[in-house]
Amino acid sequence: MAKIFCVANQKGGVGKTTTTVNLAAGLAKVGQRVLMIDLDPQGNATMGSGVDKRKLPLSVYDVLLESASIREAAVLSEKCGYHVLGANRELAGAEVELVALDHREKRLKTALSEVVADYDFVLIDCPPSLSMLTLNGLCSAHGVIVPMQCEYFALEGLTDLVNTIKQVHANLNRELQIIGLLRVMFDPRITLQQQVAEQLKSHFGDKVFNTVIPRNVRLAEAPSYGLPGVVFDPSAKGSQAFVEFAREMVERIKTM
Ligand code: ATP
Ligand code: MG
Repeated sequence: MAKIFCVANQKGGVGKTTTTVNLAAGLAKVGQRVLMIDLDPQGNATMGSGVDKRKLPLSVYDVLLESASIREAAVLSEKCGYHVLGANRELAGAEVELVALDHREKRLKTALSEVVADYDFVLIDCPPSLSMLTLNGLCSAHGVIVPMQCEYFALEGLTDLVNTIKQVHANLNRELQIIGLLRVMFDPRITLQQQVAEQLKSHFGDKVFNTVIPRNVRLAEAPSYGLPGVVFDPSAKGSQAFVEFAREMVERIKTM
């Protein structure tokens, strides 16, 4: 049975999509069966997995509106080694359309129940908001992975996310927990980042992953080739860190 994780942080540009596609590729690389779900109308995780968002016959939008199953709508990214349930701008409309429907926050969960036996991991890339789309992700998941930069204000936005997760846990999904904070775009030359990285670890302990993702230009270049860094340049420092993170996740789910 798959373990299902949301990659979420309502702050924009913190590395959610980079984390989702590279973790998916890293997990595939170490032999895990992975489904990556793009819940962001920007469709960056779709494009970044080598799937053209403009040519999707079916997408996560169709799944949320129950006009397609995940098996029908997901496609295999052969280069990346994982399945992709893609998204494009159409998904922006789902927000409004879902409002009128029953069980609107549990649509994705219901659809996922049919395919959990097919995968070891399901990773959900969330948009930078705490919207109905993110809520669908949180209601489906066993845990949340929170990428964050080691900056002075890093923790500020976290309060809203933590409160949302607490509410979802209390009212909609008893299984949901924060699996961990992932330190990303880390630059060891910047003293402040070192300090914040260490403070996070000493303050949150086990809730901070051991792996640290460095700032690495190859990770930033990879999306323009329609690939995760892990596939685009496996020898890059950032790619190696994501494979290490994949191994850490494989160990982590053994204790869940
Ligand atoms: P959004 O909130 O818009 O969905 P996001 O949280 O998904 O953004 P990304 O798109 O993953 O963030 O990353 C933002 C930018 O930072 C991108 O240009 C990405 O290539 C770059 N980036 C992410 N991680 C790294 C890294 N470790 N090293 C260098 N660049 C990175
Ligand atoms: Mg993103």
